[in-house]
Amino acid sequence: MSGKLGLGQVALMSEWDAVLPHLPSIGGWPIHCLLSVFVRIHSVTALQGTPLSATLSLVMSQCCRKIKDTVQKLASDHKDIHSSVSRVGKAIDRNFDSEICGVVSDAVWDSREKQQQILQMAIVEHLYQQGMLSVAEELCQESTLNVDLDFKQPFLELNRILEALHEQDLGPALEWAISHRQRLLELNSSLEFKLHRLHFIRLLASGPEKQLEALSYARHFQPFARLHQREIQVMMGSLVYLRLGLEKSPYCHLLDNSHWAEICETFTRDACSLLGLSVESPLSVSFASGCVALPVLMNIKAVIEQRQCTGVWSHKDELPIEIELGMKCWYHSVFACPILRQQTSDSNPPIKLICGHVISRDALNKLINGGKLKCPYCPMEQNPADGKRIIF
Ligand SMILES: [Zn+2]
Repeated sequence: MSGKLGLGQVALMSEWDAVLPHLPSIGGWPIHCLLSVFVRIHSVTALQGTPLSATLSLVMSQCCRKIKDTVQKLASDHKDIHSSVSRVGKAIDRNFDSEICGVVSDAVWDSREKQQQILQMAIVEHLYQQGMLSVAEELCQESTLNVDLDFKQPFLELNRILEALHEQDLGPALEWAISHRQRLLELNSSLEFKLHRLHFIRLLASGPEKQLEALSYARHFQPFARLHQREIQVMMGSLVYLRLGLEKSPYCHLLDNSHWAEICETFTRDACSLLGLSVESPLSVSFASGCVALPVLMNIKAVIEQRQCTGVWSHKDELPIEIELGMKCWYHSVFACPILRQQTSDSNPPIKLICGHVISRDALNKLINGGKLKCPYCPMEQNPADGKRIIF
């Protein structure tokens, strides 16, 4: 997804920046001033019944002038801020089109019921992923959506472990990592090592009385000796400073709290990839992609209407134009057939010919002549059945 701001957002941000400095100051000084004047008036009016001396009348008239000036200042400040705030409102109206439903015609989507079901399912999945289990359950009940226990289970487990990690309890995460050790190693994950390291550091932080326990715990690093040699050396080195206190040693960085935030991130990323879940829910990815794509789609809609070329956008699975969402949104490789100039799909997969050139199956079928295939590139003659499907 692109980190760049659109023109509309830039215009809005600059209006907002103009308002921001006024917000804390408004009312502060003038109100303080008014209060001090009121205190003075109060002390003068305490002398009720006695005629005001010349000095006191002078003080009173000064107070009245002060009140008038201050109220005027407040009014003009208010007027200033009001005009800046209303400029923000106008910038929103000018730069953001509130009518976005019309961007896509209803004909390109499935039926309304189907749409609603897909949306509800996406919201429920997002809620499970965010750990808002009770809200998800409530939504399922209200929308009479049937969610399989098998679907919920991984989210429930992940959230239970993450909650424990937030409480700095390593137990459930360690248990999970040890039981999935082989698959985690296949993913090149260092989750288990990082969990053991945190446990070890916690023992070190408890002082010299935990020295023996820390030493005996160090045997857990043995399977990771090859991959994490340097980090293990650092931890062993820190033992020298146990008596002095780790916080006063060159190893004080080991006590940094950021390790806990990092372990939550590592756990979420590696566990999601092991369980075949996305780190971000499909709903948040769709929303963020929509924010990038919507301005482009709105422009296209305007062009289609102007040139009266409706029908350009009639495919269900495809947008009328390619929209760049950035590296973050690259989930798999794509291959476009050089003959048909179409992206390959499950029904028309890429096929590698024996000469090494790759074309789509539909293109291959079209090129067969008398049971033989001539590669359009090299051009080696071959048996069409020798082509092999490749998976990116
Ligand atoms: Zn070839």
